[in-house]
Amino acid sequence: MSAVLSPPFTDPQRVLHEVFGYGQFRGEQRQIIEHVAAGGDALVLMPTGGGKSLCYQVPAIVRHRGGRGVTVVVSPLIALMHDQVGALEEVGVAAAFLNSSLDGDEARRVERDLMSGKLTLLYAAPERILTPRFLAMMQSLSERGLLSLFAIDEAHCVSQWGHDFREEYLGLSALHEQFPGVPRLALTATADEHTRADIIQRLKLEEARLFVASFDRPNIRYTIVEKDDPKKQLLRFIREEHEGEAGIVYCQSRKKVEDTATWLAAEGIEALPYHAGLDAETRRDNQDRFLREDAIVMVATIAFGMGIDKPDVRFVAHLDLPKNIEAYYQETGRGGRDGLPADAWMAYGLQDVVNQRRMIDESEAEEDFKRLQRGKLDALLALAEAHDCRRVRLLAYFGQHSEPCGNCDNCLNAPATWDATEPARMALSCIYRFRQAGGQRYGAGHLVDVLRGKVTDKVKERGHERLSTFGIGAAVSEAQWRGVLRQLIALGHVVAEGEYNTLGLADSARAVLKGEVQLLLRVPTEAKARVKAARVRGGGAKPPPVPLDEAATQRFEALRAWRAEVAKAHNLPAYIVFHDATLAEMARAQPSTLDGLAGISGVGGRKLDAYGAEILRVLSGAA
Ligand code: ADP
Ligand code: ZN
Repeated sequence: MSAVLSPPFTDPQRVLHEVFGYGQFRGEQRQIIEHVAAGGDALVLMPTGGGKSLCYQVPAIVRHRGGRGVTVVVSPLIALMHDQVGALEEVGVAAAFLNSSLDGDEARRVERDLMSGKLTLLYAAPERILTPRFLAMMQSLSERGLLSLFAIDEAHCVSQWGHDFREEYLGLSALHEQFPGVPRLALTATADEHTRADIIQRLKLEEARLFVASFDRPNIRYTIVEKDDPKKQLLRFIREEHEGEAGIVYCQSRKKVEDTATWLAAEGIEALPYHAGLDAETRRDNQDRFLREDAIVMVATIAFGMGIDKPDVRFVAHLDLPKNIEAYYQETGRGGRDGLPADAWMAYGLQDVVNQRRMIDESEAEEDFKRLQRGKLDALLALAEAHDCRRVRLLAYFGQHSEPCGNCDNCLNAPATWDATEPARMALSCIYRFRQAGGQRYGAGHLVDVLRGKVTDKVKERGHERLSTFGIGAAVSEAQWRGVLRQLIALGHVVAEGEYNTLGLADSARAVLKGEVQLLLRVPTEAKARVKAARVRGGGAKPPPVPLDEAATQRFEALRAWRAEVAKAHNLPAYIVFHDATLAEMARAQPSTLDGLAGISGVGGRKLDAYGAEILRVLSGAA
């Protein structure tokens, strides 16, 4: 599809409104866009789903003066460029991508369009951009004043501290050296100090203006439950709250991904696996289905997700603890990009704490790096164990102050706490007695047996029924003991080591033993059902994202059926044609004129021209 914007746009607000169909800028978008459109460099830190794309797309349009001049977008993921370009063409912006999926003829056509200044945006991976051929083309564009802007997406890929380091990104400083006059905009959702400093230094952005957006994603509800029977807990969560909706389930290992996906599928959930061990074709097929169908649950390792901008992901679940808060926030941020309610749900247990600590301890990394990783893990564990507002803690981690949110598990359902100071002391002194009694260390299972006074074979064999700590904790339940030990490990008073995760005392245990530290723990809450009105659904259809009456629901369904046909004809995911939220608003407001339709968020000029009459017809037909 060829797409050329007719009027020269110079006003960002008009571009937002007339091209993208949105009423207002979000957060700092306006300031960022004005700064970049005027030729300034910028580094933008904004959470996943915060609206980074518009920050370079609007300046690209504004700087495409008189219909000439291109913005080059550096993006790490060639698999997603097709859909990104498709979304721009849908709103009438001339865009293209250059990558290995194009054949020779197609690539030459794109290059011709590029050199003639016809394109507003060109997407390419860094390795392509840094080839001598491409650099020479940019040189020629630049000499003719047709190189408008460089946008470097996922800029944290340049940092070795981050989790997505890509060697090719290191070469991008060449852009500044070779084209000092072309403004650069780097964008990322990774906000920690280290990564930020790294990005600035490696991309030579010392002079760039820094924009740090609010990291709050108010429509995401955070919930962290204690692991009990995680697969069943997950299934219950999906069935009760997200039946028929799209979601992502993160697991740590490939095997667990496979097992979980198979199990969910057997339970009637449309689940697909995704991890780096699958062949490229399977990965692409599964990703395509996730993007194009409505209700796929993607069970994945962290290999999945970067660059996925599907707006209607309604939940992100973690069956294993992520590496740190940045990773957790980036992963959970993939839910609810459309601004509608979404869930971030995690099941977390003793084993997670032990595993993560061990992975750091046993890694080959330098001690400095390990110390940093341990600090980050501690912050995540504190979040998982918190009995106050999760969001306040998350935002505080990113240096932002906030008030209790009213939209996390702890705010909605304040957890009961119990004073575990005494049991903690019992556990620590029992570990100490083991050492005295024979110098050996034991795992959590045996420790709890001894504390509860259970006479097992192992207890008899070791003579542990004679220890002074035998049976002193009989009044504390097993589940409570697991919570106590998890906390002690999370807080670093106890260390779990070796193949069998045997427990030992850390230096800081002394203060707890002396009674100088009070330990307040959550009462395990898993059994408690979450309060949520049951949704009534017919035929397993996807529910509208906002409550609609019966007639409006019918209109919504009719619009969705129409959208599916258009998406198919254009070979694009349905949400690129219109978001669910936009269709729901059309169904609710039921406009009868093009003007009325134009007032709905998400309907820009091009889409109004292309689809307006059709939509009015569908709306009146379905009334
Ligand atoms: P990010 O790249 O930061 O993760 P996106 O650029 O994908 O986020 O934006 C997330 C969603 O928000 C997209 O669906 C986008 O269309 C929408 N969006 C962004 N800015 C606005 C705005 N000003 N008004 C309405 N919707 C917006
Ligand atoms: Zn809260």
